[in-house]
Amino acid sequence: MSNFSFDVITLFPTAFDLIKNLGVITKALEKNFINLNLYDLREYGEGSYRQVDDKPYGGGAGMVLKPEPIYKAHKSITKLPRNKTLLMTPQGKVLKQQDLIRWSTLDQLILICGQYEGFDERVRYLADEEISLGDYVLSGGEIPAISIINGLTRLIPGTLGDPNSLIDESHNKPLLEYPHYTRPFIFDGMKVPDILVSGNHEAIRLWREQKSLERTSERREDLLINKDNRNYQGGKLKTKDPNGIYQFPIFYECETYPDW
Ligand code: SAH
Repeated sequence: MSNFSFDVITLFPTAFDLIKNLGVITKALEKNFINLNLYDLREYGEGSYRQVDDKPYGGGAGMVLKPEPIYKAHKSITKLPRNKTLLMTPQGKVLKQQDLIRWSTLDQLILICGQYEGFDERVRYLADEEISLGDYVLSGGEIPAISIINGLTRLIPGTLGDPNSLIDESHNKPLLEYPHYTRPFIFDGMKVPDILVSGNHEAIRLWREQKSLERTSERREDLLINKDNRNYQGGKLKTKDPNGIYQFPIFYECETYPDW
């Protein structure tokens, strides 16, 4: 049984109550596949007021998290052999599935959540990596940290009922996943593609591969033109016909999507 520790430094530990209500993630916590330790930054604050923030040198809006409480909290964490410290910041590298996969072989992630205007620049020296959830600014690092905990926990063996669900899903390969359908066969005049009830497993596999490629080219062309994808299927993905329609290396005679 694998066991992964998340240690989070935050001014708002109660934000992590969400993890106690997140289905498979909550189960992973209950089964000790993961440990979650919260370090309330306020407890490491300075003086009788437990001060954690101060005005920025040079003036300007907002308050900045002081370095001492964050360093003290970080020092108090018992480090496991393979650990990394991640700093939540909109100035960091934008989080990708590949990062979660990469970190899933560690023993421990220490996550530092900022608040207000952010943190004193010297806090950066604690971090092995600076991570952003995306190109937008949130009020704190708690939601990015919860996102990392959630995404990484799914990868830990035992967490998902069927580990095969990790294989085809979006961003595991540099492709988006194919469309899914469940019952009823016809809903509100919209019908499930016949091929999915054909019982022909090879035809279904090819249809799914085709849809995955089409979907990625329609929605996320950027994924197809990155260097990893150019290698995907020998770089044939970027071929367009004279009408600008993508020609995929695989073609299976089937209804176009959507097919109602
Ligand atoms: N003034 C800062 C933003 C501060 S937002 C700047 O311009 O860079 C306050 C805190 O929220 C940050 O310290 C960070 O911990 C968190 N945060 C906000 N947006 C984020 C994002 N996109 N990804 C990760 N953390 C983020």
